[in-house]
Amino acid sequence: VSARTLAQVGELGFLRRLLPRLPRGRDILIPAGDDCALVRMGSRRLLLTTDALVANVHFRPGWMRPDQLGRKAYLVNASDVAAMGGRPRFALVSAGVPPGYPSRDLDRLHRGLMAAARETGALLVGGNLVRAEVLFVSLTLAADSPPRPLQRGGARPGDLLFVTGRLGEAALGLRLLLRDPRAGGAAVRRFREPIPRLKAGALLATERIASAAIDVSDGLLQDLRHLCRASNVGARVELASLPCPARVRRAGADGYTLALTGGEDYELLYAVPPRHLDRLRRLRPSMGCPTTRIGEVMPKTHGVRVVDARGASVALPAGGFDHFAGWRR
Ligand SMILES: [Mg+2]
Repeated sequence: VSARTLAQVGELGFLRRLLPRLPRGRDILIPAGDDCALVRMGSRRLLLTTDALVANVHFRPGWMRPDQLGRKAYLVNASDVAAMGGRPRFALVSAGVPPGYPSRDLDRLHRGLMAAARETGALLVGGNLVRAEVLFVSLTLAADSPPRPLQRGGARPGDLLFVTGRLGEAALGLRLLLRDPRAGGAAVRRFREPIPRLKAGALLATERIASAAIDVSDGLLQDLRHLCRASNVGARVELASLPCPARVRRAGADGYTLALTGGEDYELLYAVPPRHLDRLRRLRPSMGCPTTRIGEVMPKTHGVRVVDARGASVALPAGGFDHFAGWRR
């Protein structure tokens, strides 16, 4: 087993073996495997998450200004906090930088990161700087937890599936940048600057509207599969109801592929029991973003299916994003 490479095992394959070996217990209230871990320190409960942006994996030099890169490194972590309904508080950054990188740019990167943290009520309290072959920014974020944080597990058959904001736009932006590093426009903007749905997540958690939630970082389908696996359920998604902006839909069938598997949307996917729909309707205007019903939670035996307007199953593109297998950028 150990002789197999990561490319053979895959990101998710490796994590499936690692996660059960991590400690659980009294002060670990939600163990690794959700969008954040939830730990207890004294009388306080803390959400913890970490994520990195790596040159030539997540971006290419020239795609983003240094301040935009710093912002994004923070915002993708804030999205994981949003998925639990938390409130970001303190961040630590670890930056790996090639020796030839201009110090002025590294300064701009940190300014962008700190500004994004401040805008969401968090503070950068420390970090680490190392020499590296390629530029990377790794961030750890600690957040306040609501009394009942959102989790991937908890959805039940009959719950309705919703997603915030829009799907497929960031993936379209990525595609445009791969074609032309100087591309601009709304889709590229969306790729450069995700919008963590902190207000929506906090409301869904504190008002106890959602039975389960996850942020869509690897593509709707893959993250829906994560939610379904954790909840031990299946799901049916209606293709026609996906909130794709016109510029994504213009790409035709390909546009739906972007919406289903593109990734980097950083929207919230969540399940709502029918008895909470009235409350959702009332609170919708306070969520700070549109939210769209896209399908229904089904029994596990149904599997995860996407149906067209006539209710026929659509052949699904393989997977979402796996760092070592599957789709390659
Ligand atoms: Mg996540």
